[in-house]
Amino acid sequence: MRTVLILGGTGEARRLAAALTGCRVISSLAGRVADPALPPGEVRIGGFGGPAGLAAYVRSEAVDVVVDATHPFAARISASAAACGVPLLVLRRPGWTAAPGDVWHRVPSLSSAAEFIAASGYERVFLTTGRQGLGAFADLADRWFLVRSVDPVSPPHPPRLESLLDRGPFTVDGEVALLRSHAIEVLVTKDSGGDMTAAKLTAARLLGVPVLMVDRPPVTPGVPVVPTVEDAVTFLRALFGGPGGG
Ligand code: NAP
Repeated sequence: MRTVLILGGTGEARRLAAALTGCRVISSLAGRVADPALPPGEVRIGGFGGPAGLAAYVRSEAVDVVVDATHPFAARISASAAACGVPLLVLRRPGWTAAPGDVWHRVPSLSSAAEFIAASGYERVFLTTGRQGLGAFADLADRWFLVRSVDPVSPPHPPRLESLLDRGPFTVDGEVALLRSHAIEVLVTKDSGGDMTAAKLTAARLLGVPVLMVDRPPVTPGVPVVPTVEDAVTFLRALFGGPGGG
C-alpha cells in the first residue's frame, strides 16, 4: 500500500485526507494553533526539524509522495518539502483577483505593507495577516490597528492595537459592520485566496476602503502544482497507476 504524507494546516489538506482512499495517509500539522481542526485518519503534530528532519521522517515512514497542502504563505515548510527526496505535489488554491471597484495595492511583503502605511495618511488599519509578522508594523506608533487572528497576539506588535480573536468563514454583512464600526481606512491582507476569508474584500469594495494585498511567495520551480483537492486526487491516482491506486 502506498503512503501519502499531507503537509497540512488548511481546509484543503483536511478535505484531501478525507478524499484519499486505498492508501495510507499521514497528515502533518505544525502545532501552531491551540485547538486545530483535525483531518480524519493518522495525524502527526509538530515541526520535523528543518529539511533534513523532514527527509528523515519521509524515509522512516516509507512515504511514497508528499503533498504540500500548506497555506500559500507557509514558505519554510514548503522549502523543506521541495528537498525531501520523494515526489512532491503542491496543492495551492488560486490567489484572489481584483474586481471592478476594488482599490488594491499589491506589495511584496509585510514590511513593504508597513512602509506603504507609514508613507500614507491612513490612521486606522485593519490587519488580517495573522499574529505572526505583526512585528513588521511595530514601529508604526502613530497609527491604530485592529488585528484579527485565531490565537492571541504577542509582542512585537504595534503599540496602539485592538485584538479581535476570530476565525472564518466571515460574511460580507459582518465584515461591512466591522469596517464601519471601527472606522477602518485601509485593509491589509495576504493573498491567501479561497472563500473562507474573501468577504472582507467585498466589504472593502462596497465601502471604498483600499486594500494592501501582500503577494505570495513563489512555488519552487519545476514542482507540479494543482489548484483543487479534486485535481490532487486525480494526480495521485495517475501517479499510483490507476483509479484504485489512491
Ligand atoms: P512556515 O513558516 O513554513 O513553517 C515554520 C515551521 O513550522 C516549519 O519550518 C516547520 O518546522 C513547521 N511546520 C509548518 N507547517 C508544518 C506542517 N504542516 N507539519 C509539520 N511542521 C510544519 O509556516 P507558518 O506560516 O508558520 O505556518 C504554520 C502552519 O500553519 C502551516 O502548516 C500552514 O499550513 C498553517 N497556516 C499558515 C498560515 C499563514 O498565513 N502562514 C495561515 C493558515 C494556516 P520544521 O522546520 O521544524 O519542520
